Amino acid sequence: MLVVMKRQATKDEVHQVVQAIERAGYVARVIEGGERVAIGILQNLGPVDPTPFLHLPGVKDAIPVTKPYKLVSREFSPADTLITVGDCRVGGDHFMLIAGPCAVESEEQALTIAREVKRDGARFFRGGAYKPRTSPYSFQGLGEEGLRILARVREETGLYIVTEALDHEICDLVEECADIIQIGARNMQNFSLLKRAGRARKPILLKRGLAATIQELLMAAEYIISEGNPQVILCERGVRTFADHSRNTLDLSAIPVVRKESPLPIIVDPSHACGRRDQVIPMSRAAVAAGAQGLMVEVHHEPHKALSDGPQALFPIQFEELVRGILPLLTESQRAELHPEPR
Ligand code: PEP
Ligand code: MN
Repeated sequence: MLVVMKRQATKDEVHQVVQAIERAGYVARVIEGGERVAIGILQNLGPVDPTPFLHLPGVKDAIPVTKPYKLVSREFSPADTLITVGDCRVGGDHFMLIAGPCAVESEEQALTIAREVKRDGARFFRGGAYKPRTSPYSFQGLGEEGLRILARVREETGLYIVTEALDHEICDLVEECADIIQIGARNMQNFSLLKRAGRARKPILLKRGLAATIQELLMAAEYIISEGNPQVILCERGVRTFADHSRNTLDLSAIPVVRKESPLPIIVDPSHACGRRDQVIPMSRAAVAAGAQGLMVEVHHEPHKALSDGPQALFPIQFEELVRGILPLLTESQRAELHPEPR
């Protein structure tokens, strides 16, 4: 249930409604809209009777919320969520470009790739210090040393850092280093990690699970927001299907569905969706054309030597081609956010 206040409602009237909601045993969440304030009623187990709230001063209407998710729904917050990272804005009409290797392997590797992707227009650098690997014998990431290297990349290039928090225990360390904390596909329903992310003061990049529906993705985001962190960026990264011509199947229809259902930004990771570098450029263009508000792309200067996900990593020259290919699909102001330098 959403209690919508009149345009001219006072702070005191809003406060009275909040108190009435709390007296009825629910949790109230005030949502400041551009034109008017709405108050969401949370933690109701069944339908809420709007009668006690409708007659309160300043109340315009009470609207039942038809979806299981609330804080992430457009019904609750009609306007696009905007997230600020340094001098970058994410969401709405903005476009974010994240690029970098799957894993941080050394300072030289990370800095080499960071300089390349920066020149081509990326404002965010990705790289895992803690890697979720299918095999325990595969490279697990450099851990704390990887975080130190990422901090060095930011210092040297000015790129903002996106890196994964693999579990609840290392979240403190990752939060200190990262500008955006990534929660990977395998952890999309790790509820203790989601709750911890909800207490973080950094934005969260939440990747869709390997076999998660959009509703499950939005419910996972609801966990984060309900703990107090509204800065969530969703990421479509392909889902498992019978297809074996690509690592996963990029679900492009997730983009318009999420954009209709939720004000949260949605970006696309074509690298993990495709798993093969020859598919990454066309699928990036498709994602942008479908309305993705950003891309996250794996790039490596020596993919044959990469310690993880080499086959899907673009060579820097291919990343430049990718950027050239999406520029015509962006608005003028989005192009200005990228400003690639000529090679
Ligand atoms: C990643 O982005 O590094 C990653 C492991 O991706 P995913 O969680 O989508 O598999
Ligand atoms: Mn990877």
